[in-house]
Amino acid sequence: MHGLVKRKADVGLWLEDVPKPEYGINDVLIRVKKTGICGTDVHIYKWDDWAQKTIPVPMVVGHEFVGEIVAVGSNVVDFHPGDIVSGEGHVVCGRCRNCLAGRRHLCAFTKGVGVNRAGAFAEYISLPMSNVWHHSSDIDLDVASIFDPFGNAVHTALSFDLLGEDVLITGAGPIGIMATAIVRHAGARHVVVTDLNPYRLELARKMGATVAVDPREQDLPAVQAQLGMKEGFDVGLEMSGNPHAFNSLIANMAHGGKIAMLGIPEKSMAIDWNTVVFNMLTIKGIYGREMYETWYKMTVMLQSGLQIAPVITHRYHYTEFQKGFDVMLSGQCGKVVLDWET
Ligand code: NAD
Ligand code: ZN
Repeated sequence: MHGLVKRKADVGLWLEDVPKPEYGINDVLIRVKKTGICGTDVHIYKWDDWAQKTIPVPMVVGHEFVGEIVAVGSNVVDFHPGDIVSGEGHVVCGRCRNCLAGRRHLCAFTKGVGVNRAGAFAEYISLPMSNVWHHSSDIDLDVASIFDPFGNAVHTALSFDLLGEDVLITGAGPIGIMATAIVRHAGARHVVVTDLNPYRLELARKMGATVAVDPREQDLPAVQAQLGMKEGFDVGLEMSGNPHAFNSLIANMAHGGKIAMLGIPEKSMAIDWNTVVFNMLTIKGIYGREMYETWYKMTVMLQSGLQIAPVITHRYHYTEFQKGFDVMLSGQCGKVVLDWET
């Protein structure tokens, strides 16, 4: 089969013939239909410090996908050939304290699909049945292919009560843009989004931002004044990984404000801890999705009218993967989806 492989310790990815994956008695074999390109895949493509420390070569990469089950192991009774499914990208140990208590998203021994084990940028992928999400029959396949990052956005956004609250989202990458639509759907009042990239600010407006600004052009106190806000934001979602963005978020929260932090800073960063203490802020780190409460919420929010599809701005056949990575590298995009049907 064809797979996009990190063949060697160098910049790039290579489309190659690789063996079709084997599947064990507890696994399902899935024919991949569509995949999303994640920022993580771009790190692997660029072969940055994190990728060099983390990614074994050679390996098929990628973790955002939708596909159709073609075979199941002899222990698998809940899934059947023909089912349309996506995969949870974190394979947990099942044996640690958190896993045994049902808090699988808190497992300390997680393995990443397309990061520590063979990924989804291929014609087939094999996964443990406990990592498979069966889509409802009304699902749009493009949207199904990005359930993984959509889940990051949902997990972060739904960390705190949103109804009637004023929300600040720093970073209008694909995840920040999806979070904009989610907090709007969940009943927030004002949703303010910051980014430095005009293309992405425009997408945030399309997805329901009350105001989407470049903080170099208009600062957040001025935005608050424009909206008639007096006490700061109730909920903050950090989705840029940028130290300036995180510090401006902390500075613009209401007393008792709640912050969910998804963005991954490149290195350790300083923040104003006095503001955290004296303004009594809560900061919650977010990694991945809750298994499977987040997946349930994604599905029912789509069924109750949430529109996520506009975040997908580019689509290519997998043989044109280079175009997909080029547009990701340019930043002039939302989500990029690769089609694996031949
Ligand atoms: P992305 O890199 O596409 O988006 C980040 C955005 O932040 C970009 O649009 C960038 O222009 C913007 N930005 C940069 N500096 C800024 C500033 N000073 N103010 C406001 N915006 C600024 O990433 P994404 O795929 O949307 O993911 C968002 C973040 O979440 C990234 O940091 C990513 O590494 C991280 N992430 C975390 C998890 C997790 O499980 N914790 C999962 C996926 C992604
Ligand atoms: Zn575990």
